Amino acid sequence: MSGSALYETFARAPLAFDRGEGSWLVTESGERYLDFAGGIAVNSLGHSHPHLVAALTEQAQKLWHVSNLYEIPGQRRLGERLVDTTFADKVFFTNSGAEALECAIKTARRYQYVNGAPERYRIITFEGAFHGRTLATIAAGGQPKYLEGFGPKVEGFDQVAFGDLEAAEKLIGPETAAILVEPVQGEGGIRLLPAPMMQKLRALCDEHGLLLILDEVQSGIGRTGKLFAYEWSGIEPDIMAIAKGIGGGFPVGACLATDKAAMGMTPGVHGTTFGGNPLAMAVGNAVLDVVLEQGFLQSVQDKALAAKQALASVVDEFPTVFEEVRGTGLMLGLKCRMANTAVNAALRGEHFLAVPAGDNVVRLLPPLTVTSEEIREGVERIRNAAQKLSDAGGKGNAS
Ligand SMILES: *Cc1c(COP(=O)(O)O)cnc(C)c1O
Repeated sequence: MSGSALYETFARAPLAFDRGEGSWLVTESGERYLDFAGGIAVNSLGHSHPHLVAALTEQAQKLWHVSNLYEIPGQRRLGERLVDTTFADKVFFTNSGAEALECAIKTARRYQYVNGAPERYRIITFEGAFHGRTLATIAAGGQPKYLEGFGPKVEGFDQVAFGDLEAAEKLIGPETAAILVEPVQGEGGIRLLPAPMMQKLRALCDEHGLLLILDEVQSGIGRTGKLFAYEWSGIEPDIMAIAKGIGGGFPVGACLATDKAAMGMTPGVHGTTFGGNPLAMAVGNAVLDVVLEQGFLQSVQDKALAAKQALASVVDEFPTVFEEVRGTGLMLGLKCRMANTAVNAALRGEHFLAVPAGDNVVRLLPPLTVTSEEIREGVERIRNAAQKLSDAGGKGNAS
C-alpha cells in the first residue's frame, strides 16, 4: 500500500476539522477558519445550524430508512414544497447532484421517446459546464480531463462555446432532445448566463420542441438571492436538477420537472434505493423552513451586495493579484492574475477557506447565514493575503 488507504483522486489540503459553528470550522487543536468554501456550496446554512441538528436527530430517533417500496411522508412534504415554490409539478429525489442530472437526462430522453420521437436523444451543453462525474454527466460536461481513459464517451452530447447561442441553434437537428445549462457556471469559474440569453434558450427550445434542462445543483436554494437562479431571468425550465444546498450538508439531490416533461417517467422506468430517505427529507424540509422564512432571501441579497462592493475595492487595490470580482448573490468569484491555486493557498494561510474554480477563479460560497461582520472579516483576510502575495510578487520581479 502506498500513502493512505484512500484513492488518490483528491488533492486534499493538509487540514482536518473537528467541528463547525456557523461560518467557522475548527481544527482539533482549536484553530478557527472562516469558511467561505461551504463544503462547495453545500453548507447553505453553515455548520451545526440548530434547526437542522434538531431535525436530523429527531428523525434519527424514529426511522432512518425504509426504501421507496413504501410511502415516505417527509418526501411527499418536501416534494410538495418544491412544487409549490417552483415551476415544477413533479420531483424525484436522489443522493447527489450527478444522480439528479442523470434523472434529468433520462426524463428528457423519455419525454421524446413517449412522444413518438425516440430518435431525439441528443442534448446540447456548454463548454466549461460541470454536471457531475458519472459516465453520462462527464459526457455532458465535455471536459477532456474528466473523460480521458474512461472508455467511449456516452453518446448523445453536443457542446458549444459558453454563451454561443448561434452555435447552439445551428446544432439543433432532428435528433436533438434538449438543451442543458447552468444559469451560473460554478466549477467553470462563476460565469453567469445573462437573462436575455436564458430567454433566448427558452425560445429556442419552444421553437424546436426541445426541453430546457437547468442544472441548479450549485446555484439553487437561495445561493443567488432567489430560491433559484432562473427566477432572475423570468423564464422557467422544463426540468431542473438540484442538490448541494438543499441538504445543508446531508446528501440530497432532486430532479424537478413539469407534468409534461415527466410524462415518460412511468412506474418502473427509474429508481433509487437511498434517494429521498427519511433522514435526508427531514433535513431538506428543515433547510426550506429557514430559506423560505420571510425576509431570508432578501437578507442574502443585501449581504451579497455589500460583499461584492467590498471585494471590488480589494480587486482595485491589488491589480497584480486580482483581475475582477464576478458572480451574483453569495456565489462570487475572484478572477486571479496569478495562479488561483496560489491565491487559494495564501487565503488558507489567513485561515480563510475558498474554492478554486475554472477560468483561474477563486470561488467564495459562504453560508447564506453569514453575518455582515463575518463578510467584513472575510474581506479583511482576503486583503491580507493579497497584500502578502503582492509584496512577494514585487520582490520577485527582476526589473
Ligand atoms: C457539484 C455539481 C454537480 C455534481 O454534484 P455531485 O453531488 O458532486 O454529484 C453537478 N452540477 C453542478 C452545477 C455542480 O456544481
